[in-house]
Amino acid sequence: MKVYLDYAATTPVKKEVLEEMLPYFNQHYGNPSSIHSFGRESKKVIDLARDRIAKTLAAKSDEIFFTGGGSEADNWAIKGVAYALKSKGNHIITSKIEHHAVLHTCQQLEKEGFEITYLDVDHHGLINLEDLRRAIRNNTILITIMYANNEIGTVQPIKAIADIAKENSILLHTDAVQAYGSFKINPEILGIDLLSISAHKIYGPKGVGALYIKKGTKIHPLLHGGAQEKRRRAGTENLPGIVGFGKAAEIAYNNIEEHTEKLINYRDQLINKLMGKIPYTRLNGHPTKRLPGNVNISFEFIEGESLLLSLDMVGIAGSSGSACTSGSLDPSHVLMGIGLSHEIAHGSLRLSLGDLTTQEEIDYVIQHLPPIVERLRQMSPLYEKVKGEAKSV
Ligand SMILES: *Cc1c(COP(=O)(O)O)cnc(C)c1O
Repeated sequence: MKVYLDYAATTPVKKEVLEEMLPYFNQHYGNPSSIHSFGRESKKVIDLARDRIAKTLAAKSDEIFFTGGGSEADNWAIKGVAYALKSKGNHIITSKIEHHAVLHTCQQLEKEGFEITYLDVDHHGLINLEDLRRAIRNNTILITIMYANNEIGTVQPIKAIADIAKENSILLHTDAVQAYGSFKINPEILGIDLLSISAHKIYGPKGVGALYIKKGTKIHPLLHGGAQEKRRRAGTENLPGIVGFGKAAEIAYNNIEEHTEKLINYRDQLINKLMGKIPYTRLNGHPTKRLPGNVNISFEFIEGESLLLSLDMVGIAGSSGSACTSGSLDPSHVLMGIGLSHEIAHGSLRLSLGDLTTQEEIDYVIQHLPPIVERLRQMSPLYEKVKGEAKSV
């Protein structure tokens, strides 16, 4: 059996999405900037996709700008505001558990002379609103805090954050790449000025995303060139990608209640059954303020990497809390951010659920994971010792 539980990394393109995209590779291929009928047709479908996405956010179509993905949207929001407002101030506030698309962008801006405050989070991964208030200075130009975390699933109190930003006339950007499709998000009502989303996390194609920019927000372009996207994002549009994104967004929001209800049920089964069956575990992230499809558990006395490999051998695809695969042994900054020790962080497993997840798959994981953990623990001298001590009392 093959069980894909890594939907937070990426999702498969839905059949209806792919079908809608296909004609835009070689039948309707006009450049949307061209004057002729080929071009006009392409322009029309891009505007349709923009309308569809705007509708999911209760936004105006001219507040949606297509990008080459979530990372580009994050880079653009942060650098674009920083450069546009640098005569006003050079201070930006973010958190320690942001996606690298935000963190590394902030680090780059530091090299360029901006000052960044990286807020701590509590053991559930929530920022402290008083910390946020205290971090604000008279030269603060931007707050960028993610809506929901991709590793531990924690959902931030974004409305309260926006209220604080507003009181102090500071722009608020949120990376909503994980939250989009799982929550109904109305940036205008919430008070969000800029919001990043990505197609491939909601069953659309990779390499396309969007930035919501509230009307009137000052922002510099990131890419210079042609006059696409109202002169704000140069480059010939990714026509099939944008068409697919629009369709995926529409489907996601047509089925949102049903979708999230199903995921929450599966998520809680996994959390409760796995933690009930396996001793020495810890749930990472907030117990209730979390993404519907996110499970993140630390297993003491084992290495996440060996756990992943053993799971892969029985067909289960998950993700671990360390970056060993990318050649480094540093545990994830998110797990460090919530205060885990190196050892515990290294024994972490993220299972992220999605549209194709079935009860059969959940049962399969509940059946196969506990014996794998037990077998791996048998190889740990520390575990043997702890078990021995537990028996002798
Ligand atoms: C996936 C992800 C991104 C990056 O989006 P891409 O489209 O892959 O560039 C950014 N932020 C979060 C929270 C993500 O989960």
